[in-house]
Order: sequence, then C-alpha cells, then structure tokens
Amino acid sequence: MGLRERLGRLFGKPARGSTTLAADRTRANEMHGRETTQTRYEQDGTRQRMEAELDGQRTQRAAPAPGAAAVCAHTVLVARWDTPADLGHEERASGYTCEACHQTFTAAEGTALRQSEAERVRQQLTP
Ligand SMILES: [Zn+2]
Repeated sequence: MGLRERLGRLFGKPARGSTTLAADRTRANEMHGRETTQTRYEQDGTRQRMEAELDGQRTQRAAPAPGAAAVCAHTVLVARWDTPADLGHEERASGYTCEACHQTFTAAEGTALRQSEAERVRQQLTP
C-alpha cells in the first residue's frame, strides 16, 4: 500500500492532490520553526523584501498619511540603496523606509531609530 493510499484512508477520503498539499503544509510549518539555519523560505523573504523596496523607491514621492507618523513606532525599517551594486550592504544604505507608515528616513535617522527600537524591545523583555 502506498503512502497516498494510506494517507487517504487516514483522512477518510480518496487520496488526491489535497493530501499532497497537506503534507507540504506540514513540512512548511516544520521548516518555519527552525531558526538555526536560514531556510529557503527566509531567503525568499529577503529577496522579496529587496524587490518590494525597489518598488517602494519608485513610488517614494507619495506622501505619508497625515498623523501616521505620530502613532507609528517605525519598528519595520527597510533599508534602501541608490545603486543595485549596494543592495544588501546595510552600511551603504542611503536611507530607510518604514514598512508600516511608509515614512522615509535618512541613514542616520534609520540607524538611530533601530538603536532605540532595540532598547525598547530590551525594556519590554526585562520587567
Ligand atoms: Zn512607521
């Protein structure tokens, strides 16, 4: 008896594409829990973040919503680069964009925000 048939019997329905999908989802969830090595999913995420950042640079002139900066903690800062050759090198970032409110910051402002963010997280972790 093959795996598909056994899975089909286990779930009480004929083995079709759904069982394969379920198995894939289970595997994905297992992979998601591992943090010791960078998984294929994390690498995809990094690449997608960079592509999204390049898209963001094209629409950068759009003004942030009024009042958004006042309530946003700017915890998800995405670096931007002037040239593709600099992509991925944080020290060469020309500035940062908040993913939540899309407000842009200079490299210095982004660094300061990231440092204070780490401080805020530390304070939350140590009561
Ligand atoms: Zn923000």
